[in-house]
Amino acid sequence: MNCVYLGVSCYRWRQRAIQRDIDRCLKNAKLLKLTRIKFETEIFSQQYNDMNELPYIDTPTDFQQELKRVALLRKNGKLKERRLYRLTKEERKIIHAKTGGKCHVCGQEVSVDKFEADHVKSYSSGGTSVTDNFLPACRTCNNYRWHYLPDEFKWILKLGVWARTEIAKETEIGKQMVSVFVGREKIREARRRNPRISAG
Ligand SMILES: [Zn+2]
Repeated sequence: MNCVYLGVSCYRWRQRAIQRDIDRCLKNAKLLKLTRIKFETEIFSQQYNDMNELPYIDTPTDFQQELKRVALLRKNGKLKERRLYRLTKEERKIIHAKTGGKCHVCGQEVSVDKFEADHVKSYSSGGTSVTDNFLPACRTCNNYRWHYLPDEFKWILKLGVWARTEIAKETEIGKQMVSVFVGREKIREARRRNPRISAG
């Protein structure tokens, strides 16, 4: 794969890798005849026939259901990928070079010593070597991206862009969001400095 910077192209490649993992999980679920998962599978495949884009949803309840649905899919399909592996210096160099030293989610430069290796492909979904399974990520992206499936991640992105616009326009809801957000950030920061402080 040609991977000189690429927030976007690399991200698509990554999404395809995730998609293969999901397909595999759902296939297994079908074989096991797990009713709930089977139900999710049917809706899921219908949506993905539609060019991989997000569905149009026009009621708040349906939207909440959709967010629950994608979260459930993720939980049901949880990949056995949490094996800890300590990368060698050489492996880190190879992974770092894949994106030209940039976080594969946001594109920010990351140093070869400090980047976090984000797990992309499991062996069973076609990862052939250790370095094949990772991409460099910055700390924030690695922390927040979790293992969201493509749909879930796209919803989060869409919500985030909308929230940002409301805040920038200083609308009523934008002002409310920013005030709650800043309050939460304060608590997070206090907890980071003193882990004994409770969630409040
Ligand atoms: Zn990043």
